[in-house]
Amino acid sequence: MKSDPIIPGPLARKSNIFLIWWRIWFENAAILMMDMLPRTFDIVFSLFLLVFLSPILLLRAIVAKVSTGKVFEAELLIGRFRTPFLRLRFSGKAPGAGLACLSNILAGDMAFAGPRPMREDEILNLTPDQSIRFTLRPGLYSLYSLRRKVGIAYDSESMSDIDFYYTETVKGDVGLLARSLIGDMLAGGDLRPTPPILHFFGVDIVNTTMDEAIDWIVNRIRENAISFVAFVNPDCLNIAYTHEKYRQVLTKAERVLPDGIGINIGCRMMDVSLMANVNGTDLFPRLCERAETEGLSLYLLGGKPGVAAAVSNNMRDRFPRLKLAGTRDGYFSPEETEAVIEEINRSNADLLLVAFGAPKQELWLADHHDQLKPCVRLGVGGLFDFYSGKMPRAPLWMREIGLEWTWRLLHEPGRLWRRYLIGNPLFLYRVWKQKRTDTPT
Ligand code: UDP
Repeated sequence: MKSDPIIPGPLARKSNIFLIWWRIWFENAAILMMDMLPRTFDIVFSLFLLVFLSPILLLRAIVAKVSTGKVFEAELLIGRFRTPFLRLRFSGKAPGAGLACLSNILAGDMAFAGPRPMREDEILNLTPDQSIRFTLRPGLYSLYSLRRKVGIAYDSESMSDIDFYYTETVKGDVGLLARSLIGDMLAGGDLRPTPPILHFFGVDIVNTTMDEAIDWIVNRIRENAISFVAFVNPDCLNIAYTHEKYRQVLTKAERVLPDGIGINIGCRMMDVSLMANVNGTDLFPRLCERAETEGLSLYLLGGKPGVAAAVSNNMRDRFPRLKLAGTRDGYFSPEETEAVIEEINRSNADLLLVAFGAPKQELWLADHHDQLKPCVRLGVGGLFDFYSGKMPRAPLWMREIGLEWTWRLLHEPGRLWRRYLIGNPLFLYRVWKQKRTDTPT
C-alpha cells in the first residue's frame, strides 16, 4: 500500500518544520524591512524638526508653564499592537500645542503617517478586520483625516486604514504629510460647528454626508415625492448672484448639495465646517450601486452625442443588474424637446440625470417640471464626460488637496479660465463681503 503523502516520515517532518520556521523568519524579516524605512524616515525627520524648531519649542514650553502652571498635557491613546501610550501636547490654548507630539514620533509611539490614534473606548467596537490598524504605528496624519478635512472621506475609516496598510511607502508618507499640511491650510485644522444648512448669497445648501444624501434620494423615490436636486460649486453661486431666475430655481429645489473645495473654503471663511463634498461626480457611482440593489432605474440626458450611451455601457459593466432606462444627448433643438420628454416618460425611469451644465440644466428641469415623470431629477453638470471615459478625472492626490479644478483648467483652459481664475477669487470676495454684513457689529 502507498504511504499517505500528507503524513510524512520523520525526515520529511523535520524538513517541514524547517520550511515553516524559515517562512516565519523570512516573513518577519520582510515585515521588519518594510517597517524599517518609514521608521528611519520618522526618526530622522522628527529629530531634524526637534533640533530645527528647538527655539520655538522652548518658547512654547515657557508659554505653557506661565499660562497654565504645567508644560505638557498627556492623553492616553492606543498604539501599535494595542499598546497604550501617552500623547503629549503643550498645555494651554496658544498655537503649536501639537508640536510636542514630535517626541512621541521620535520615541516610536507614533509615526508621521499612519492610522488615526484611537482612545481606549473607541477600540472596543472595532471588528477583527479593522484590527489591521494595530500592526502600524498611529499617525500624526492619517489618510482618513486628510480626506475628511477636504470632505471626500466617503468610505469608512477602516477602508482608508486598509488602503494605507497595503500601500505605505516612505514616498507615500512624505506625500501624505505634504497633502495634510495643504489640507490644513485650505480647510483648517480646527473643529468648527456643522450647521445643517449653509447659506451663500441667498442659496441654502444642505450640509450632509454622501451616505445620507443617497438615502434621502432613495427615500424620496419610495415615498413617490417629486424632487429636484442641484449641486452648486462657486461658479454656480457666482451665476446665482446675478441670475435671478437661476437663484429662484435653486431656492425652490428640494435639495441643493455642495460641490467642490471652493465651498469648503467658503465655509471656513464663514466659521463653519462642511461635512462632506457631496458633488455629483462622486455621488454618481454610489447612486448607481444603490439603485442596482434597490432596483431603481436611471435615464441619462445630456453630453455630446454618444457620451450618455457610453456612460450607460460603462455603468452596466460595473453594475450588471443596474436598470438604465435610456440615454439621449444634450444637443437637441427646442422643437425636439417634447419628443425628448415623451421618451423620458415612456422609459419609466425613477431618476433623471440631466447634464447640460449650470444653469442650463436647472432651468430646463424647472421649465419642464410638470411634464416630467421621473421622481427624482438631478442636474449633474459635466460628469457624463468623466464616466464616458472621454475626459480623465483628476488623480486622487490632486482631489485630496482640493486641486481638481486646476486639472480641469489644464484640460480645457479656453473654456474654463474665466470660471476658475476670475470666478474663484470673485466667489471668495463675495463670501468675505457676506460675512462682513452677516456679522453683527
Ligand atoms: N452640454 C449639453 N448640452 C448643451 C450644453 C452642454 O449636453 O447644450 C453638456 C456638455 O457636453 C458637457 C456638460 O453639458 O458634457 C457641461 O459640462 P460643464 O463642465 O460645463 O459642467 P459643470 O459640471 O462644470 O457644471
